[in-house]
Amino acid sequence: MKKVFFSLSVFFGLLLIYLLSQQPRIHFIQDEVHLSLYATIEPYDYIESLSHIDIEELIIDNQVNNQELGEYMIYYQYHQYTFSLKIYIDDIVSPEFETIDQVILRNETLDPYDLVKQIQDESATTVYFKEDYIFNEIKTYEVHIIVEDAYHNKTEKTAYVKVEESDTNPPTLSGISKLTLLLGDEIDLNDGVTIQDDHDDHPTYTIDDAMLNLKQIGEYSVYYHVLDKYGNEETYTRTIEILSPYDNREATKDGIKTCYLTFDDGPSSNTKEILDILDEYNIKATFFVTGTAPDYFNCIKEAYAKGHVIGLHSYSHDYEYIYTSVRNYLNDLNKIKEVVYAQTGIYTKYIRFPGGSSNLVSKKYNVGIMHVLTKKVIDLGYQYYDWTSINGDGEGIKTVDGLVDKALEEMDGKEDIMFLMHDSGTQDNTVIALPDILDELIERGYTFKTIDDTSPTFHHSVQN
Ligand code: ZN
Repeated sequence: MKKVFFSLSVFFGLLLIYLLSQQPRIHFIQDEVHLSLYATIEPYDYIESLSHIDIEELIIDNQVNNQELGEYMIYYQYHQYTFSLKIYIDDIVSPEFETIDQVILRNETLDPYDLVKQIQDESATTVYFKEDYIFNEIKTYEVHIIVEDAYHNKTEKTAYVKVEESDTNPPTLSGISKLTLLLGDEIDLNDGVTIQDDHDDHPTYTIDDAMLNLKQIGEYSVYYHVLDKYGNEETYTRTIEILSPYDNREATKDGIKTCYLTFDDGPSSNTKEILDILDEYNIKATFFVTGTAPDYFNCIKEAYAKGHVIGLHSYSHDYEYIYTSVRNYLNDLNKIKEVVYAQTGIYTKYIRFPGGSSNLVSKKYNVGIMHVLTKKVIDLGYQYYDWTSINGDGEGIKTVDGLVDKALEEMDGKEDIMFLMHDSGTQDNTVIALPDILDELIERGYTFKTIDDTSPTFHHSVQN
């Protein structure tokens, strides 16, 4: 009985082994396959041998994305049997990067990240020094930096760290050129001032303006004390000149080319087109307006809404009327002032005299009136502006080329420009010439400003 049982066990055991050995099998080249990013995936290449499988009937489901690091499967389907192989897409490329040399102070610590730039790698990287460095000697250190990625690929490079004794230079200040103001002007002494230091990212300054008296004509010194965190200090002096309110406010010679575009004699049928051109260039201008074309008064409103500045030219633009008497001039000025107020809701303080403050035509009607008017308007709280440059549209130049040529000639060699053009209804060619003139101003490096309370006034000398 025992013997029979033993024999049966052996029989069934052998049968089982036989049946198992008849089952389909895939022997892979490795239990798991590691490939690099972008490698071509070849599912058949990972098969070492097949047992009881007809390769023709093997269905492959390749789920590997070779564009992205990660763990994937390839499934090999043979009838009801499924075999799987794990595929790893690994980063096997070392990081690439550039080094940056640094200058530091003795005993300063340095972040290794400050010595590298433009790291390129497929996985996350860390940056560290190969060894610890103590920057306690005055010399140039050769340091070894390692960038390592998440797959432990490393790249080592050398950078140089120059160690200096200490910061001995005080911060430098810019934007403290001489300022010319008129009595009654207000200023912010911080305006346009910038401070810089070679080692301190946050140097400071304080202003001592004890000597400055904005209410008295004179020349004053204002002191800017600068300080960095290493105790380096310096005092810079700025000159502030306070002139009589009647004097010309000079343009500051600060190396910045500024252009104040101004248009006189509008609004008219041409104003809208000029506004459209200025919109295209995103440039703001100042319009000295008249009351001669009431149909276009809404252009004043539009210009103001777009951020342009409105000044007063005159209501009638009738030389004979306005320059016959101070009373006539002021009546006329009040009239256009109210027109502007109706359109904009503000009483503007900016004026341009018809013919400019230097006009001689007024002499025909009233000798000496410009001497009176130029002071009178300032006493009344206005400021008047003349110009440095013209396109010649008021001087009889009629062709577009002529206007452009004249404008180019007039901007030549000037750091600050107050440009006079006319947007009256007869000046169609000024509209056409404007883009070329703007292009040239931009090309020559001018930035555009509108008139404000501290703008240079560009006063001409009064001749009558
Ligand atoms: Zn005019």
